[in-house]
Amino acid sequence: MNQQRALLSRRVQAVRGSEIRELLKLLDRPGMTSFAGGIPDPSLFDLDAFGAACASSLQGGKALQYSTSEGYLPLREWIAERMREKDIACGPEHVLITNGSQQALDLIGKLSLDPGDTVLTAAPTYLGALQSFRIFEPRFDTVHFRDGGASAGGARAKLMYLVPDFANPTGATLDRHDRVAALELAEEHGALLVEDAAYVDLRYEGEAPPAIASLDQRRCGSIEAMRTLYCGTFSKTLSPGLRIGWICGPSALIQRLVLIKQAADLHTSTLGQWVMHEVAGAGFGARLALARDTYRARRDAMLEALDRHAPTGMRWTRPKGGFFIWATLPHGVDAAALLRGALERNIAFVPGQPFFADGSGSNTLRLSFSLADQQTSARGIAALCALVEERLAE
Ligand code: PMP
Repeated sequence: MNQQRALLSRRVQAVRGSEIRELLKLLDRPGMTSFAGGIPDPSLFDLDAFGAACASSLQGGKALQYSTSEGYLPLREWIAERMREKDIACGPEHVLITNGSQQALDLIGKLSLDPGDTVLTAAPTYLGALQSFRIFEPRFDTVHFRDGGASAGGARAKLMYLVPDFANPTGATLDRHDRVAALELAEEHGALLVEDAAYVDLRYEGEAPPAIASLDQRRCGSIEAMRTLYCGTFSKTLSPGLRIGWICGPSALIQRLVLIKQAADLHTSTLGQWVMHEVAGAGFGARLALARDTYRARRDAMLEALDRHAPTGMRWTRPKGGFFIWATLPHGVDAAALLRGALERNIAFVPGQPFFADGSGSNTLRLSFSLADQQTSARGIAALCALVEERLAE
């Protein structure tokens, strides 16, 4: 073992697996009610449309061939059109197709980070982003949003990472003021701003604030002068298995990212991109409407069950979209210990601690409402709350 350790780079020696991931391997057990994974409901996958798109994309065989690192032009054009609907004026030359938005985070880390650089994130923030950036050995500092302003510790930051809409893990959304404040803070630091918009299209109520990228573009007059890289994905809306996401930003940065992507994997699956283009082009709006209706009802059921069953001292967020409710347990109840007890009763969730770069948050947890139907969710939440009550009585 020690001998093999010597084969590893310093970077990789520092990478740790998580105990929680080990526990969550139990998720496949029959009868498990999972509030753990941030994954879409597979019954929403449009199997007919994907089947037909596979068949038509295979005709002529071109979709089986190598293709460009930037990605399939008609798909980039379709995405650019959607970006323009979000008031981000751009063309396909501003769009790079990635293997999910997870790869976008890795490519952006390579683009921007040297060891010791400071990355600003919310606390808690998306665990997968922390994992991606950690490989590049940065320091992490927290962005605080208070009284209409954004602030962070003293060190000059190189990169700021935010999930402004229905964040993973909190479900929180930054309002327009916070977005402007984030941009101003990034400007002050001279930092690149990563807007991770993974859940933006899954809004169940209210009006969407402008994308940070659109605010940035308005301030500096052109996409080419922006400091924001917008990361999108089809994972939460159409299919995560096809692994198709994108980065939209200034062409000078996109061109650098294309070179980095080329070195990593040459390009995203040609067939996958063709299929996604056909499916998205034919019925994105209708699929989105169905997904929103489904998840809205599930969110409401989970909130109702929490309102009814949660013990005094437990708090939780009321997200307007996305997949997640974030709960804070009553004082003295540890979420990782609670998970062990919950798994014995066939209920799973994700303890909150790994979402904090500094390892705090041991009494927090993330509840995903995307998978369980309303009845199952209500039953599971009632049982989970009963377990919290038991812990309090101990
Ligand atoms: N960003 C956020 C905030 C996420 O929650 C996820 C998925 N869990 C991703 C990025 C990565 O998604 P994908 O690579 O499937 O696009």
